Amino acid sequence: MKPLNHLEYYRLPWNYADNGISWLEPTTDCNLRCEGCYRDPRGPGHKTLDEVKADLEVFKKLRKSDCMSIAGGDPLVYPQIVDLVKIIKEMGWKPIVNTNGLALDETLLRDLKKAGVYGFTIHIDTSQKRPKVTAETENQLNDLRLHYAQMLAKVGGIACSFNATISDKTIDEIPGMVSWAQQHADIVHTMVFILFRSPEISGDFDFFVEGEIIAIEDTYKDTDWGGSHTLMAADAVAKIRQADPQYKPCAYLNGTADPSSLKWLLANRVVLNRDILGYFSPKFMELIQTVTHLLSGTYLAYADPKSIARGKMAAFFGGLVDRKMRSIFFKLLGHTIRNPGSILKPAYIQSLMIIQPVNFETDGRQDMCDCCPDITVHDGKLVWSCRLEELNKYGAFVQTVPKK
Ligand code: SF4
Repeated sequence: MKPLNHLEYYRLPWNYADNGISWLEPTTDCNLRCEGCYRDPRGPGHKTLDEVKADLEVFKKLRKSDCMSIAGGDPLVYPQIVDLVKIIKEMGWKPIVNTNGLALDETLLRDLKKAGVYGFTIHIDTSQKRPKVTAETENQLNDLRLHYAQMLAKVGGIACSFNATISDKTIDEIPGMVSWAQQHADIVHTMVFILFRSPEISGDFDFFVEGEIIAIEDTYKDTDWGGSHTLMAADAVAKIRQADPQYKPCAYLNGTADPSSLKWLLANRVVLNRDILGYFSPKFMELIQTVTHLLSGTYLAYADPKSIARGKMAAFFGGLVDRKMRSIFFKLLGHTIRNPGSILKPAYIQSLMIIQPVNFETDGRQDMCDCCPDITVHDGKLVWSCRLEELNKYGAFVQTVPKK
């Protein structure tokens, strides 16, 4: 495989103060325990609604964003989740519920929809021990994913994303998940593959807080679920290409220590009649982000199902301004000539995203996501949500020093 070159993709213009996404945690409680979860289950539990509103005010003051990811813990166990969604919507964000789905039924979904929920990101993978679910592989879990996608589609007008933590043990299942998503592009709008991290990656480093050495395993649960290899974005790309050789990313976020590392790697494909017509070009993604920001004042992170069904329009207008998008338009024409029945069918835009969390440079620098979208509020400040436990436990982020 040709090595991935970040300079061939569009660097999303998201930054600390003006981003596609912000991340709110109303609770640390959860009704599941996933391997690799970075939130301590013995946390303080639910915040009061006033405390959550105070966090939202901090965001309002410090950062623009298109969406507010409501996470945790599992936000659906938060007693005032419906009120919270309403407040977020009224404050001008698109409320996105990041959940394992366990507490979601149609009644709650309809209430959330009425309150203004914009989308769901549903975390399903084999790192969870779900009651009454016997599936042992990622691809056996596709039926459960379909159950939620169909529930969201039935209520209608809600963006549907799935994320899965991917480890050494499950990476070979990516091709099956990518093909499954292709078959359901009408109701599955985004698949996110989050590469597993565990304290095992700390093998070559000592960890310090305020000059004192600490045991990192005390903060992050050590587990052998993920195996020993530190997965990188290129590993996931190789697997996606087994299912979809046309796969081509269009945009990325780099690392804070390594500008060439692909911390968030985004690809958008156009799917008609379950056939892939091609992938968005970097230029077209640049156009989308720029125009959206000009018109709305924020960078786009989530689109609604109506916009997602406008793959033909994207191919046409994109083709007017960019040669790479034109190839999607010509494939669309060819497909329609061969299948005249598809002339009235929508083409769907489906996103495939890879997230590569922290890794360490040999000199000890921590390569975080530059301009982290999943920034949350802690004590009135904006901080990385993936490392909140360090602040909870030590009052400071942990420093890494290579072992002598
Ligand atoms: S820095 Fe951490 S919280 Fe931010 S996007 Fe990356 S993995 Fe997520």
